[in-house]
Amino acid sequence: MIRLEHVNVTYRLKREGVEALRDVNLTVNEGAFHAITGPSGSGKTTLIQLIAGLLTPTSGRVEVAGHALHEFDDTEMSRFRNQTIGFIFQFFNLPGYYTALENVALPLVFAGVEEQERHRRAAVLLEEFGLADRARHKPDQLSGGEEQRVAIARALVSEPKIILADEPTGNLDLENGARVMDLLKEVSRSRGVTVLVVTHDEKVTKFADAVIRIEKGELVP
Ligand code: ADP
Ligand code: MG
Repeated sequence: MIRLEHVNVTYRLKREGVEALRDVNLTVNEGAFHAITGPSGSGKTTLIQLIAGLLTPTSGRVEVAGHALHEFDDTEMSRFRNQTIGFIFQFFNLPGYYTALENVALPLVFAGVEEQERHRRAAVLLEEFGLADRARHKPDQLSGGEEQRVAIARALVSEPKIILADEPTGNLDLENGARVMDLLKEVSRSRGVTVLVVTHDEKVTKFADAVIRIEKGELVP
């Protein structure tokens, strides 16, 4: 599902370059549920952004769902991203002026799905995630755990092949963090979605079927 070959990323600052990833080779099979871990600044977010096509490698090759990302132009890239990848962030990123239902439905606006169908699909997911009675709540009327479950529903509403989660439990207590991980695991198992979860929490990595460790921009074998 995901393949990186000899990938290097160097961020250019004024005078010097920051080598964020060095000769990364990685294969992730369809339906995998992997954790990506490593110290702060080791390159975890950079790796996620490469897979999402939000960042172009300085050298090397990135292949996602059978497509070499460098062959896409900007329009093709954003269409591919909308159809193939769901994102989950540490700080939930739910616009505060929309209800939970509208937040979940949001990716379908960009996909051109009409409103009634958008809301129907969003309601199905909220129901499935035990949030039916929160559908009309705004994000500030939800707990952190509920917000993150809404964010997972939003990530899934376009039926992506891949979920990329960057420290999704970083802002949650232990119990809610475990609940979010359980949900992601269940999503991966029941829908066959490939899930990559960035975390530097060792308690979270036990949910994964494999752990990818990065140190100073290099994968630790
Ligand atoms: P992590 O997510 O593991 O904390 P990142 O991938 O965010 O690590 O960053 C890896 C390295 O690249 C760090 O040294 C960071 O300071 C640097 N870095 C990240 N983004 C940029 C950027 N836009 N410009 C310059 N340096 C960056
Ligand atoms: Mg990061």
